[in-house]
Amino acid sequence: MAGPSRAEALALDAAGPLAGFPARFVVADAALAYLDGHSLGRLPIAAAERLRRVVDDEWGCALVRSWEHWIDLPGVVGDTLAPLLGVGAGEVIVADSVTANLHRLVHAACDLDPGRRALVAVADDFPTDRYVVAGVARDRGLDVRWVPGRPVDGPDPEALAAAVDGDVAVVVASLVDFRSAAVLDPAPALAAARAAGALVLWDCSHAAGVLPLELGAIGDLAVGCTYKHLHGGPGAPAWLWARPDLVDRLRSPVAGWFAQRDQFAMGAEHDPLPGPRRFLAGTPGVLGLVAAHEGARLVAAAGPGPVRDRSLALGTFALALADDRLVPLGFAVASPRHAEHRGGHLALSHPDAPAVGRAARAAGVVPDVRPPDLLRLGLSPLATRFVEVWDGVDRIAALVTAGRHRQGTPGPPPRLT
Ligand SMILES: *Cc1c(COP(=O)(O)O)cnc(C)c1O
Repeated sequence: MAGPSRAEALALDAAGPLAGFPARFVVADAALAYLDGHSLGRLPIAAAERLRRVVDDEWGCALVRSWEHWIDLPGVVGDTLAPLLGVGAGEVIVADSVTANLHRLVHAACDLDPGRRALVAVADDFPTDRYVVAGVARDRGLDVRWVPGRPVDGPDPEALAAAVDGDVAVVVASLVDFRSAAVLDPAPALAAARAAGALVLWDCSHAAGVLPLELGAIGDLAVGCTYKHLHGGPGAPAWLWARPDLVDRLRSPVAGWFAQRDQFAMGAEHDPLPGPRRFLAGTPGVLGLVAAHEGARLVAAAGPGPVRDRSLALGTFALALADDRLVPLGFAVASPRHAEHRGGHLALSHPDAPAVGRAARAAGVVPDVRPPDLLRLGLSPLATRFVEVWDGVDRIAALVTAGRHRQGTPGPPPRLT
């Protein structure tokens, strides 16, 4: 069966409730096929405008007086994200990095019951998650039970559940696998944790802005970044959530003044705020927060259901194209084949993936390369055009057919996140 045509791509771009959303992002080069939105989402026009206003008016003119409202931004941006995470107002803060937030939550989870001597994590999870879990375990003298991942399907949900018993403080795993985009079924780990009195912490960095989430129904703690499918900008601050009936029993290992009740009374003792703001540390980066705010607003305006529908349509379209144009050239699909089992990108393996990635950039396509052999096509639910996917795959097929990836001079190594 022939794959989708360019005309079909154009027709899909004109259809659907979110057809107008790609025009709400800055497109500096209309010919570029940008397929790396799962590393850095495109810039929302509204974010560029907001940043200009904040720089000129709030920083340039109002100066320190702007802190009267800047100080609320970690919670305000969290409230904007809340509907995308399926949680209530006041349950989320946005600050610092995923790494820092994860570190604080894992320590806090361990403090709840110091008798629990083990952590459960996934052996091939995103590097920072593995490093943080191993680091906390080392600092506290705990064991880590590493559950193996699988190259395409991610960790086996039953294996994750089987690692949990009464000695486990917290299970840490990504809801969407950063390599293959496999969506993990959270239910078995959650049921095992409930039975054993352990907590479950989800890293939703590749899930938020793609899948509708109901955090309260699937876990106790969660973190995620905002610069991928949430279009928050380079280095945008991350979000943190804790179950509302649990959060006030958690203590951040960083006793910072932005977590302090009556902050400007500057009291002698640390007295953390109720709610997730107890995980704030120091002065937040305002420019990063306002950019993240606009990205979150855009995704929230689209709504989690329509976002997922367009994500599924892009994924189905990209897979059909890959099967038609790339598999015959030696690529193999390295993501789950069912759209519902995938997050926001499609992974393809090829023995020369790094060289293909470099040649693709020279041909006006930006995919993502994951050495040694993965090419990931990022499909931003709101920003990616179907025709961009079509053109990108077409150019990759053409350059591989012509052997251009074998001629190229070696460029700089591909980017890491
Ligand atoms: C992108 C990503 C991160 C990023 O962490 P930072 O500390 O914000 O750099 C963490 N975990 C996962 C699973 C990611 O995909």
